[in-house]
Amino acid sequence: MDYLQDLFEFLKIDTTSAKGKGEEGAKFLVDYMRDHGIQAELIKHKAKNPYVYGEINVKADKTLLIYNHYDVQPVEPLDKWQTDPFNPTVKDGKIFARGAGDDKGTLMARLQAIIDIIKEGKLKVNIKFLYEGEEEIGSPNMEDFLKDYSERLKADYVLWEGSGRAPNNAPQIVLGVKGLLYVELRKRTAKDLHSMYAPIAKNPTWDLVYLLRSLRTEDGKVLIPHFYDKVKWLTEEEKKYLNVDKKYLEDAISQQIKEDNAMIKLVSEPTCNINGIYAGYTGEGSKTVIPSYAFVKLDFRLVPDQDPDEILKHLEEYVSPYDVELIVHGKVKPYRTSINSEIAQALIKSAKTVYSQDPVVLPNSPGTGPMEMIARYLKLNQIADGVGVDYYGSNIHSFNENIFVEDYYKGIQWMKELLKVI
Ligand SMILES: [Zn+2]
Repeated sequence: MDYLQDLFEFLKIDTTSAKGKGEEGAKFLVDYMRDHGIQAELIKHKAKNPYVYGEINVKADKTLLIYNHYDVQPVEPLDKWQTDPFNPTVKDGKIFARGAGDDKGTLMARLQAIIDIIKEGKLKVNIKFLYEGEEEIGSPNMEDFLKDYSERLKADYVLWEGSGRAPNNAPQIVLGVKGLLYVELRKRTAKDLHSMYAPIAKNPTWDLVYLLRSLRTEDGKVLIPHFYDKVKWLTEEEKKYLNVDKKYLEDAISQQIKEDNAMIKLVSEPTCNINGIYAGYTGEGSKTVIPSYAFVKLDFRLVPDQDPDEILKHLEEYVSPYDVELIVHGKVKPYRTSINSEIAQALIKSAKTVYSQDPVVLPNSPGTGPMEMIARYLKLNQIADGVGVDYYGSNIHSFNENIFVEDYYKGIQWMKELLKVI
């Protein structure tokens, strides 16, 4: 098999789901899998881009479900790309193409590894493949799909879409996600007033400012009663694999990093963040006015086992004296697979073998995703991420997306090693 050549054929296909493209990529995958002896089919269901479903049953006791997505983000602005995003180019040991890091590269590396293992007759776990074509537009049909296909997707473990290198270049494993509660708080009065009435009139902006000031301490502790009641703080075992020096995070993410135990805080702390705030006159020059309307958008990133519905209740109680309108924009539950689970231990062991170093293991990603939903519908508790080909400089979703050629081959090896030890 010509690993890179086959990957490049796949990367050349434009699968930008936001522009309604993707079906051609799905067909490519089904053909590719069938050509290599894997049962595969397109499942249309309610999604615009079909799901690709595949299966290899070697009559093993355990089944591993591999989830990836074949769609990509729009490439614009095109003039910022140094190469054609749909004509994969190798430069300085890197492959430049849209989807190289997210998620076509990982998808192909895993698939090619499995094809090799089948050829060698060494596969000892059943495998199911689920490739989605709508991940980059927020998986709007995934829940319905899981509802109708949960029996077919039944598995013991799920390998999530891919995680390659940590900021310090060690292999990175992720065992969960943070949850989310996204709300908007609005405060209004009947009409704008001349600011000379300030001694006697209410100003909704001040009310909102006092409320916000009371929600959080300066160093980030959330002051809503019961907010931390359900937090599962990290164990010593979990902290052991989070030893990443602050300087790597500064290089990989931003110079704004202010904490020393940055990696531990990043994954373990729930937060209250102001996304946007608006009130009154913000135009040119001055206008003396008491504005009648002020609002703020807040997101709370939640950690296991905080429940967004319960947190919402605590928040509602907390803001009730302020007489604000509260609108909920989103709720996602957090999720975490145990570091002592079979899938986590197999990922750690295989990463050590392939990369000759300890992996970084995030008990949950600092970001949010639908893992809890998958666990619920498939009735399993072992979902983990790893075996990816990307790194922190991969520019996913941005221009000049890239991966190292060497990391692509490492990804193939990692998949093979994982299949040996799971
Ligand atoms: Zn993405």
